[in-house]
Amino acid sequence: MAPFDLNSDEEYSEDDVVNEYEIEEHRVSEDDDDEVSNPPVFNSSMVYDPNFVLGMKFGTKAEFRKAVQSHAISTKRNLKFVKNDKIRVYVRCNESDCSWRMNALKMPKEDTFQLREYNPNHSCPPTFHVKNVKTGWLSERYAHKFQSDPNRHVKGFRLDVINDIRCHVSKDQAYRAKVKALKMLEGSPDAQYCKLWAYVEELRNSNPGSTIMLGSDNENGEIRFSRLYVCFDALKKGFLLGCRRIIGVDGCHLKGPYGGVLLTVVGTDPNNNLYPIAYAIVCKEMRETWEWFLTALKLDLEIVRPHEYTFMSDKQKGLIQAFEEAFPDSEHRFCVRHLHNNFKNAGFRGISFKNALWKAARATTEGEFADRMKEMRQLSENAANWFDDKPPNQWSRSHFSEHNKCDMLLNNVCESFNSCILDARDKPIITMSEWIREFLMKRLQENRDKAQSRWKGRLCPKIKKFLKKTRRK
Ligand SMILES: [Zn+2]
Repeated sequence: MAPFDLNSDEEYSEDDVVNEYEIEEHRVSEDDDDEVSNPPVFNSSMVYDPNFVLGMKFGTKAEFRKAVQSHAISTKRNLKFVKNDKIRVYVRCNESDCSWRMNALKMPKEDTFQLREYNPNHSCPPTFHVKNVKTGWLSERYAHKFQSDPNRHVKGFRLDVINDIRCHVSKDQAYRAKVKALKMLEGSPDAQYCKLWAYVEELRNSNPGSTIMLGSDNENGEIRFSRLYVCFDALKKGFLLGCRRIIGVDGCHLKGPYGGVLLTVVGTDPNNNLYPIAYAIVCKEMRETWEWFLTALKLDLEIVRPHEYTFMSDKQKGLIQAFEEAFPDSEHRFCVRHLHNNFKNAGFRGISFKNALWKAARATTEGEFADRMKEMRQLSENAANWFDDKPPNQWSRSHFSEHNKCDMLLNNVCESFNSCILDARDKPIITMSEWIREFLMKRLQENRDKAQSRWKGRLCPKIKKFLKKTRRK
């Protein structure tokens, strides 16, 4: 028999149990002891440090079982549930010759269980390997350790727990307890949608000046989440202070149970690093959502002369029309990597076509661009014609405007940002939003610290390096 088989009948046959039940009923009714006539009630605050008293009442069977589990751990003994059904829970010490025992019975017409028999004395010694230490118990008992630090390492957590309970906890148990505790702290995805309005309010209060918009739909009288837009004041100010006027826009699919799309806007800071500006969580990526997102962004970034700005994207669904609506005269670059993919899909595969395209994209003067396109035409008339409806100011340096002071050919800033937040994309909505907020806050502060402690002079290090390199040429 497995020591913890809950339905085990080996030691107690059904008849024995009934007899015992009757004897206990008799014993309790005869007893005039104050403690039993007015029995103590187990309180949930005692769950990790229960002090059992004969006659004690437990709200439910689960509460009693949990208290027994905590008792096994605190006394370092292996306890087994030899009977566990609707009306009785019998617990024995796993050492066969030990007389420790506990019997709890259900009270008639209520869920309450009462401790009817209790021998608190073990004749066996304590052990370090207590089998009652289970993942569920660990996750509930120590969930608070992950509340303030969800990234806490399993190794440190395991050592802390062993020090605390002085019982063995395996690495695997510690890992599973951490995963379970984090899930518990997160709450279910549904519950997070219900708390979203309160979360947004808190976000607004703690980040004054930020733009946080929450949209909902009314479906047959039921309010449903439709979109969330977040642009923090610190990021807004940073962009206006010194970022280039080139903005990458991208959308990536979320992997949670309700799907959805995360729209991101990422700029380029004076050191040519990515600079996240705003993000939104929407149900679907379509023209209407992009329009709503870009209109909010236009107000936040105080864009009154759209022609001085350049946007970069992968030509997502509905994005082009949305741009025409929100930023009618702005320049729009297409990521050359995606252009090359489309070029390949049109049948122009192989190294020679790839090189010809990249040479034309990297050309810095209109004359050079014309030469590169001539080379393309020599390679294939059809390949050159394929670019007829792709204006060079969308993909070749030779035709880019100078407003943004940036020769970027790839939408790398958005792709890098999306890969940074990969871990957050399968989380429930509030956890994901908090993950992104913390990531942005830390990144901003780390960059600020780095700049203050290491940077010398007025030029940013990457720009200095770039100037040095081009001077040598
Ligand atoms: Zn014992």
